Amino acid sequence: MYQKPNSRLINQTCIVTGASSGIGKEVAIAMGKDCANVIVNYLDDKETAEEIAHEITSMKYHGTAIAVQADVSKEDQVQAMFKTAKDKYGTVDILVANAGLQQDAAFHEMTLKQWQKVIDVNLTGQFLCAREAVREFLGRGMRPDVSHALGKIIHMSSVHQIIPWAKHANYAASKGAIVMLMESLAQEYGPQKIRVNSIAPGAIKTPINKEAWGTPEALKELNKLIPYNRIGQPSDIGSAAVWLATDESDYITGTTLFVDGGMTCYPGFTVNG
Ligand code: NAD
Repeated sequence: MYQKPNSRLINQTCIVTGASSGIGKEVAIAMGKDCANVIVNYLDDKETAEEIAHEITSMKYHGTAIAVQADVSKEDQVQAMFKTAKDKYGTVDILVANAGLQQDAAFHEMTLKQWQKVIDVNLTGQFLCAREAVREFLGRGMRPDVSHALGKIIHMSSVHQIIPWAKHANYAASKGAIVMLMESLAQEYGPQKIRVNSIAPGAIKTPINKEAWGTPEALKELNKLIPYNRIGQPSDIGSAAVWLATDESDYITGTTLFVDGGMTCYPGFTVNG
């Protein structure tokens, strides 16, 4: 059946965690532009999340959006978020497990609290959301009218799943673990037609890394790490996430899509090594 452009996710529902800022916000808007219904998850910025949900709904494409509060590191809150999504839209088809944070410290000064917080949100949060998504997909069965897949999960990883990061050991460890979580799920649930992939952003202009782009000097230094010579925009991740959620990528599972302007090509080696 022919579908007009930007309607690839029609009648599908997508949960985007940590969607009140940065990458999550642009992923939520991009999903809405492709006609998905969107759950704009937020931790504490209710007003902004509701504005984003309103923006998606008022685009008057096919889908609508609602803002839903949940701390992704809390099991009961994640389950309540999925229940709200199902009550509103009937089911969930797509999860973008995006919420994440940094608590940076030299390793010898890193507290257990800093370590635990990052693991709780960046890893356990993605476990809890992905588990709820898999349960929903398996419980509902195929929807051949909307997708070849039973469901799609997109984990938000980072180039730091492969690039070590001094003074960010907790963050790098959490993203390194996402690879094995994602690949194990892809292996386990491929036979049931659940597709599980990751996006590994490079340096994207969001609040999480403002010190890396907030001054012209910092931005110049940052660009040395990026062969494509520009910082990434959240919309660069939004379009990649939508594509991974559509049937255009139906044969892709268990893969990390690096969206990094070539950062993982180690540009320092163009003049050294
Ligand atoms: P951001 O700080 O703008 O967004 C992170 C979001 O996660 C925020 O909205 C925050 O409220 C939310 N969040 C934090 N803890 C939460 C919790 N317990 N429950 C629910 N939501 C919670 O930063 P961003 O750059 O948009 O980051 C989004 C994701 O992208 C993160 O997983 C991050 O690790 C990843 N990432 C970002 C970059 C980058 O350069 N910006 C690079 C690689 C990976």
